[in-house]
Amino acid sequence: MYKRNNKPPDDNAAPKATKESPKNSGGLSRRKFLSASLLAGCAALGVAKQAGAGNEFKGWPKSYGMLTDFTACVGCRGCEEACNKANGMPQPEKSFDDESVFKEDRWPSAAALTVVNRFEDPKDPSRPVYRKIQCNHCLEPACASACPIHAYTKTPEGAVIYDADLCFGCRYCVIACPFNIPGYDYASAFEPKIVKCIMCYGKIKKGELPACADACPAGAITFGKREDLLKLARQKIMDNPEKYIDHIYGEREVGGTSWLYISGVPFEQLGFPTDLPKKPLVELTEGYLSSVPVIFTTFPAIFGLVYGAMKHRDKAEQKEKDHDHHTEGKQ
Ligand code: SF4
Ligand code: SF4
Ligand code: SF4
Repeated sequence: MYKRNNKPPDDNAAPKATKESPKNSGGLSRRKFLSASLLAGCAALGVAKQAGAGNEFKGWPKSYGMLTDFTACVGCRGCEEACNKANGMPQPEKSFDDESVFKEDRWPSAAALTVVNRFEDPKDPSRPVYRKIQCNHCLEPACASACPIHAYTKTPEGAVIYDADLCFGCRYCVIACPFNIPGYDYASAFEPKIVKCIMCYGKIKKGELPACADACPAGAITFGKREDLLKLARQKIMDNPEKYIDHIYGEREVGGTSWLYISGVPFEQLGFPTDLPKKPLVELTEGYLSSVPVIFTTFPAIFGLVYGAMKHRDKAEQKEKDHDHHTEGKQ
């Protein structure tokens, strides 16, 4: 049995890794966290920039990312459980140790920001391959460029985050995403919102590991600087050419993604789209949006702005009421 280690680092400083030992003083495996000085790095990167605001944006060259090694994944679903807890999501109908879920072809949704699916390895049917799926945190996210109200932000740390309060439910991001990732919360018809993995942005800002990387007992998910993760992935492939296929998924697809993958079986056999352009889709989505009639672009943008403003006003009013209530209670 694999033991899970969900213990967060015991201080607020950036987790450190040593080259000599897989374990560091904070108990974090080098496979889980590749780069020291996370906080210093985040600070050096500066303030967040709104992605999709123009054609010149090229991601954040010094940003962080994740590397999933499918040859190491044992399908324990510890990452799913950790993600569920870290994001305060409701418990799923089937428990996290229920293997019957592997009979389904699951996909991230409003109920689960990440899922693990099982595939057969044609070379060795006795050893299944597990694929963890979540947002890939594109360097130039099509979701961000398609969103008429700029609810999405590509952060300097690499995570693509969003402001659910701004979302007014047009679902352009869902259509634009080449990986079909943003989920849509239908729970309330009047409070629509998109839902997706944000690379545990709050945690990485505090110098902690994303929950799934921290929970993985097999060292299948490594967090670190994207450029270091690329080096690690190349090294692994070079050292074990019989084990890995010669492809780092996410290095170039749609201009590159912050979440990278290496595998022992071709990516198309794991359901990855392998016919994607190497160029970012940003230009394509912007082209698409400029080619559709103005009523489908300008109107949602205006509606979205009004909707966003109304939501902010409602929130401010509620805050004021809460404050008055609180003050009255004290008198
Ligand atoms: S994978 Fe999809 S949702 Fe995630 S950043 Fe890329 S375009 Fe956006
Ligand atoms: S990075 Fe965080 S939000 Fe994303 S899949 Fe992992 S645990 Fe879930
Ligand atoms: S990525 Fe890690 S935590 Fe997730 S299923 Fe695979 S081995 Fe388990």
